[in-house]
Amino acid sequence: MAVTRTFSIIKPDATRRNLTGAVTKMLEEAGLRVAASKRIHMTREQAEGFYDVHRERPFFGELVEFMISGPVVVQVLEGEDAVKRNRDVMGATNPADADEGTIRKTYAESIEANSVHGSDSDENAAKEIAFFFNDDEIVG
Ligand code: GDP
Repeated sequence: MAVTRTFSIIKPDATRRNLTGAVTKMLEEAGLRVAASKRIHMTREQAEGFYDVHRERPFFGELVEFMISGPVVVQVLEGEDAVKRNRDVMGATNPADADEGTIRKTYAESIEANSVHGSDSDENAAKEIAFFFNDDEIVG
C-alpha cells in the first residue's frame, strides 16, 4: 500500500494537559511518522478559515473559541494509507462512542475538546497541509 500524508492537530485540551508527547506516541505506535511539526497559537482568522466547512453548524462559534483557547501542535503525518490509519487511531468524534485504545477514548474530554484533528480524505489532507505548512517545512 502506498505511503501517503495526512494532517493532524493536537488540540488545546491536549496541549493544556501536557499530552503532546503521549498523543504523538500513539500516532507513532499506529505506524505514522511525524514528517513536520510545529506548535502554534492559531489566530481567530486561521481557526475560522480552517473550519470554514463548519461555518453553518451551530457549534462553529464555540469550536473557533476552543481552537484559539491555547496552543496547538500542527503535524504532517506519513504512513501507509495515512488518512485512514490516523482516523482509526483517533477514534470517533464523540469520545463516548470511541473504541478502546483510541486517542479520543483515552484522552478526549468531550465531543468538542476531543484532543485531535485528522483529515478525512487525501484531498482535504493536501489542502490542510498547505494551509499550515510551506513545502520546505516538511522534511520527512
Ligand atoms: P472530526 O472529523 O471527527 O473531527 O469531526 P467533525 O469534522 O464532524 O467536527 C469537527 C470538530 O468540531 C470536532 O472534532 C469537534 O472538535 C467539533 N464538534 C463536532 N461536533 C460537535 C458538537 O456537536 N458540538 C461541539 N461543541 N463541537 C463539535
